[in-house]
Amino acid sequence: MDYIKLLEDAGALLRGHFLLTSGLHSGRYIEKFRILENPRLLEKFIQRMLELSVDVDWVVGPTLGGAIIAFELARIMGVKSAYSERDGEGRILRRGFDIKEEDAILIVDDILTTAGSIKDTIKSIEHGKILGAVVMIDRSTGYIDMDIPIHSVLRYPIENYRVEDCPLCKQGLSLTKRGGSNGQRI
Ligand SMILES: [Zn+2]
Repeated sequence: MDYIKLLEDAGALLRGHFLLTSGLHSGRYIEKFRILENPRLLEKFIQRMLELSVDVDWVVGPTLGGAIIAFELARIMGVKSAYSERDGEGRILRRGFDIKEEDAILIVDDILTTAGSIKDTIKSIEHGKILGAVVMIDRSTGYIDMDIPIHSVLRYPIENYRVEDCPLCKQGLSLTKRGGSNGQRI
């Protein structure tokens, strides 16, 4: 499957000159909700995520995108899903999810950039055995230090630039603000 074409056709892969919430600039941006809003489209990623998954008792994802994916994957696998929600700077499992010590867990997420939300999700899980993580798109560029295996449907590194090093600034391209759920943290 040509996942890049799929993203382009859905308007999920933007090219231009973007200001990210981190303050960094980039020449490409993945608008993940163009996929998450479309169950038929998301299904194409979910099918591949399923192939990359191991048998578990729980699929756990960080809100909001990871939670949607966790639900879908768990539905097909016939297991339970849990959602790791923001709690200050970290994440927390609320809602009384009864994950037992002997339960096997898979972590899922939409876009992997620095693995921050996956790390926070792992920290929020107090019981069970985390076997690995599967993400829809891995757009990271550097080395990510994790002690569980991470698989991705699409590996699509996107370079971020500091303002002073940004080649797009040097070309004088106008800047568009993107990212961070439009400033909201959920
Ligand atoms: Zn720039």
